[in-house]
Amino acid sequence: MIPLIDLAAQQTRMRAGIEARIRGVLDHGRYIHGPEVAQFEAALCAYTGAAHAVACANGTDALLLALMALQIRTGDAVICPSFTFAATAEVIPSLGATPVFADIAEGSFNLCPESFTRAVAEARRRGLRPAAVIPVDLFGCPADQPRIAEIAAAENLTVIADAAQSFGASIDGRHSVTFGAFATTSFFPAKPLGCYGDGGAVFTPSAEHADMLRSYRVHGKGREKYDNVRIGMNSRLDTLQAAILLEKLAAFPDEVAARARIADRYTAALADHYRVPEVPAGLRSVWAQYTLRAESRTERDAALGALKAAGIGAAVYYPLPLHRQPAYAGFATDPAGLPQSDRAAETVFSIPMFPDLTPDNQDRVIEVLRARLSDPLKEPQ
Ligand SMILES: *Cc1c(COP(=O)(O)O)cnc(C)c1O
Repeated sequence: MIPLIDLAAQQTRMRAGIEARIRGVLDHGRYIHGPEVAQFEAALCAYTGAAHAVACANGTDALLLALMALQIRTGDAVICPSFTFAATAEVIPSLGATPVFADIAEGSFNLCPESFTRAVAEARRRGLRPAAVIPVDLFGCPADQPRIAEIAAAENLTVIADAAQSFGASIDGRHSVTFGAFATTSFFPAKPLGCYGDGGAVFTPSAEHADMLRSYRVHGKGREKYDNVRIGMNSRLDTLQAAILLEKLAAFPDEVAARARIADRYTAALADHYRVPEVPAGLRSVWAQYTLRAESRTERDAALGALKAAGIGAAVYYPLPLHRQPAYAGFATDPAGLPQSDRAAETVFSIPMFPDLTPDNQDRVIEVLRARLSDPLKEPQ
């Protein structure tokens, strides 16, 4: 059995260091906002070059905190892609604002700049104030941030980069979490940098915004704990999770390199059989997922069947774009439609990707996928 993501192998590799870090927390007993939280925030800034990192309870709250710091409210429209995890859009109506869905670009899994522009016009046509855009770095590959920033500036929108899947990725050497007025990430266990529970962070170049985020994450506190200067929430990163993340961050650069090697090997072996992920020049993906496209839904489902029969983990991220989900179908979209999102949902599938994937196991995955297409009549066994 080869899992889609093997966290057990990673734990074995790091177990001693993680246990020592957990013991450290048990020894000092400062479970809420203990010293490891500030240490981890400093380590995040050192690794990414971000000016400010504000840790919080999860990647969804990270998005919510950024929207709260921007005072997003009823009457505001926030543009986001439809082909993403629900959390990207979910935070928008939870503050009374309206999501407007845009398409992904052909050849990429990320926000299409032209569709973004049409979605802004559609929001205005509906009498909404386009306030922000949330590009997503899907599967670990950064969105076209320079182009999105240009359009956002011209339209007077703030950029919140949803880097939940791209912590460790970069554009021309610049980390994905340093784009936008805010960038958010998640430390959910299966993300590139994962903890052993929930965790997240917001990054911002602005000291003023960082102060607001620190207030919002602790009930809108002012200078003192029982000073409430704004309506906030409770969204702290656990001290224990910060301790685990400090240990994991030390090993992370090597893991990013291992993921890149594995991705390159997949691409070399599978490019003549499937449509492999395209990473534009200057970008580095962190390969949160390695996602192939089949010719059709039938072909995709057959590949999934062959992998399953061979005991190989695979998954479809995402089987239905958000604008087709019952909870989101009522919101506006780019009036030109979202054909690339629909097409991706029908044809994508993700295959095993984690730093501890051995060459032998990777060869097994490749062999099953190549056999499937070189002899299409052969049934999976
Ligand atoms: C995982 C994820 C989130 C939410 O992160 P959680 O820590 O699970 O709350 C948000 N956006 C995207 C694109 C994600 O993949």
